[in-house]
Amino acid sequence: MSNKQQIHLSRPDITNLERQAVLEVLNTPNLSLGPTGPKFEAAFAEYVGAEHAVACNSGTSGLHLSLLANGIGAGDKVVTSPFSFIASANSIIMAGAEPVFVDIDENTLNITPEATQSIMEDSVRAILPVHIFGLVADMPGFAEVAKKHNLILIEDACEALGAEVNGRKTGAWSDAGVFAFYPNKQMTTGEGGMIVTPHEKVATLCRSLRNQGRSSGGGWLAHERLGFNYRLSDINSALGLAQLSRIDEILAKRARVAAWYNEALSSIDGVITPCGCADGERSWFVYVIRLVDERASERDRLLEYLTANGIGCSNYFPPIHLQPFYQERFNYREGQFPICERVSRSTIALPFHAELCEADVMRVAETLNQGLKVD
Ligand SMILES: *Cc1c(COP(=O)(O)O)cnc(C)c1O
Repeated sequence: MSNKQQIHLSRPDITNLERQAVLEVLNTPNLSLGPTGPKFEAAFAEYVGAEHAVACNSGTSGLHLSLLANGIGAGDKVVTSPFSFIASANSIIMAGAEPVFVDIDENTLNITPEATQSIMEDSVRAILPVHIFGLVADMPGFAEVAKKHNLILIEDACEALGAEVNGRKTGAWSDAGVFAFYPNKQMTTGEGGMIVTPHEKVATLCRSLRNQGRSSGGGWLAHERLGFNYRLSDINSALGLAQLSRIDEILAKRARVAAWYNEALSSIDGVITPCGCADGERSWFVYVIRLVDERASERDRLLEYLTANGIGCSNYFPPIHLQPFYQERFNYREGQFPICERVSRSTIALPFHAELCEADVMRVAETLNQGLKVD
């Protein structure tokens, strides 16, 4: 183990503004179901440019409610990406439906409208694209496929807060868009999530479902439907409201770190940096490099080398279809989504957060370069 200071894979960007906001709520009697939750929702809806926003206690619960509130359930199939954090596919199973994977684009690492179109069948009721690593999926294209086949469109925007295409932000392209606020995301509430939707009915149903099936006019012990406790507390909401007020600053800091990485890694052989895109189409969530095919077999050794040298790193993401319970339940096998599988074997997520300085990025690049020279 090196005696150098640890460079963490991620860390939240918290200032006195956030500390003060949380303390203020703690000095009121309303730690949950108070006035701060609706304030956070209103500010978030405005930022995304969505009609309605419904806060919940995680991105996963947001995805679950979005599917339920749009009528997705038993017997339905939902097309989604095998290259994602597992929650995007799990939420489909939680809703009682079945995830159907299509392979990703080698360059963007997102699923495409073309691949989705090519497997269309009657039992497909919805498409759930993921903006992986913060890069917007082809939402104009998905909107067209959804319209043509009369499908529900749900966006997993958990990694892409603030990214936009054709002047419209992620989340605002769909019947429901979902964001997450775990501490490694662009902004955090500790734990938390947000659903945005253009449909008042979907928003109302999500509010009821997150709150034990209560209705807005009914009593505390009147439950109209089977619901959950997926509420976000006012403490978390206050943190979110403060983070959201700083979001432009936070995203700019993250973009600056990404630019340092692009520069520092451009001369290192064997490394593929994240693909470029039009202005604004990526909100930097993580910085994930890939090794060229000839060197992909060294990936796990490199992860160990970086870790041993005090550099946080991870293998974002293993293919979802090859997770044990997906293989057991849906009979998925290796080789079914070859691009996803090949990409998954070659990725290294490097330390990435707003507080990294240029010297940290240089140290990561140098250590990676040394690691690549060892055999
Ligand atoms: C973070 C994330 C989620 C939701 O995560 P939670 O931990 O439940 O907030 C969902 N999908 C993707 C792609 C994510 O990165």
